[in-house]
Parts: sequence; C-alpha cells; structure tokens
Amino acid sequence: MSKFSILVNRERPLPKGCIPQNLTEPAIPFQAPPGDAKRLLVREAAAAAEKLFARAREEGLCLCGISGYRPYTRQSELYRAALAKNTSMTAVAPPGCSEHQTGLALDVSCPSEDYELEETFALTPEGKWLNTYASHFGFILRYPKGKESVTGFPYEPWHIRYVGDPLALYLSLTGLTLEEYYLL
Ligand SMILES: [Zn+2]
Repeated sequence: MSKFSILVNRERPLPKGCIPQNLTEPAIPFQAPPGDAKRLLVREAAAAAEKLFARAREEGLCLCGISGYRPYTRQSELYRAALAKNTSMTAVAPPGCSEHQTGLALDVSCPSEDYELEETFALTPEGKWLNTYASHFGFILRYPKGKESVTGFPYEPWHIRYVGDPLALYLSLTGLTLEEYYLL
C-alpha cells in the first residue's frame, strides 16, 4: 500500500493534527486567489495534476482547479455552516472525514459550468474527458454515480483523488471504489 492509497471517509476520519507534508501549488489555473490553501496539493499529486491539465489543454479543454487542500479547521467551519443552514448532511463531510485534508483531492470545473461544482459538469466535454482520462494520470473519480451507499457521499463528477498510477488504472478498469478495494 502506498501513502497515496489512504482511505478517508465517514467511518475512517483523519485526526485533527494530520497535516500533509510537501504541500505545493501546482501550475494550473485556479479560481481561488493566490495564497489560498485551496491551491495546494501534495507534491506528487500536484505534479500529476499539472500533466493532466496540460493534456486537457492540448485537447482544447479548459479545466480549472476549484479546491485542493482543506485543513481540518476549515472543514469544521463548513460543517458548522451547513448544520446551521440545514443543508443535507450527506453533502458536507464532518471535520476529519473530507479527503481534501489529505492534500490528494482536487475539485475541478470549467468555464461553461461557471466554475460551479454541479452534476452537470459530467455532461461537459471537460467532464467527459476527465471521466475517461483521469486514471491515466493517477487520479480516480472518487464518488461515482451509483456508489453513494458505498462511499457515503453523493455523486461528485468534479472530485478527483490522486492514488498513484497503478491503483488508479486498476480501479478504473474494475469500476471499484476505494472502499470496495479495501474490502477485497
Ligand atoms: Zn471535493
């Protein structure tokens, strides 16, 4: 098991003090302003994201980074805000349960979606390309449609997770989620 295959979900939260090492900013377009922690990823994930985005650009596609690393404290704020607004609890992970805390997850969108994170992203050329090619760059679409009861999260075609090359290809070919992989 590599350090990139860590399983984080509602049953397996990260401790508050868990802060990834080697956070760095990939050279990709971001909606978040310079200096925002959202622009950070673990070094290897950042390098892979640069390759993924560069290939997409060659295909004439406009992927844009929305949110990468998220500290425990920020997730805590989001969760409290969602509780106050009565937002569906399935949509916002409790603190420690978001894999954005690992620095290995990245939310992406595109101009035609107004940089929003919506299911309709899956229907855009960018979303379709990402669904097909993310695994060639070490990423998986972590929350697929139809696996909501397995992952504990709604369908999120915009959320990619770096797991490294061999595992990404394996999961893509088998259609398994990370949870199912660990149950094998
Ligand atoms: Zn996400």
